[in-house]
Amino acid sequence: MSSHKDKRKQAKMGKKNGSGDGGAVMVEELRKHRPKLVAFDLDACSWETEMYLLDGPPFRVNKHGHVQDRSGSVVRLFDDTHDVLHELSHAEEWQQTQVAFVSRTSYPEYAFECMSLIKIGDSEKSMHEVAHHHEIYPGCKVSHFQKIHKRTGIPYEDMVFFDNEYRNIRDVQRLGVVCVYTPDGFRRRHFEEALVQMNASK
Ligand SMILES: [Mg+2]
Repeated sequence: MSSHKDKRKQAKMGKKNGSGDGGAVMVEELRKHRPKLVAFDLDACSWETEMYLLDGPPFRVNKHGHVQDRSGSVVRLFDDTHDVLHELSHAEEWQQTQVAFVSRTSYPEYAFECMSLIKIGDSEKSMHEVAHHHEIYPGCKVSHFQKIHKRTGIPYEDMVFFDNEYRNIRDVQRLGVVCVYTPDGFRRRHFEEALVQMNASK
């Protein structure tokens, strides 16, 4: 256990280095208002390869732990999707937050199979299991979100959404959802950006 003297010394050093507890306080401030729903697009946002490029079932987990279709094309979650989904489904502070996958793929049956086979982090939970909502069918994503809103009563302003296609961002933003564009796939910095945006608007 550190003494008061040690703490004062640490505080002094922190000031000198321009750090100290300031960073931690800032991170906490960012998370003051947590989204009640975190929604991810699938293709080229949460994972690659896109569903329409696959040859279809049977899907299986290969020796590297990746899901592949009948031709060997791999469906792989981006590392940061893994990390953030793991955090959302395990951390105490996110227990009140629901997770959704929102996709307009024309191949929902492929998507559901892949979600069931992909395990999140080192847990036994599948990607399908960690989500409360799976809105996966073609059409404008406004209707996907309207369904979630109707079912849960969660205000649009308490939802965040990530998508690699700007047309979806533009559509869903109109509802009041905090949207973050992920042109090269989802990264943790997009998650942080969503929290900053949500807290700035509160
Ligand atoms: Mg996409």
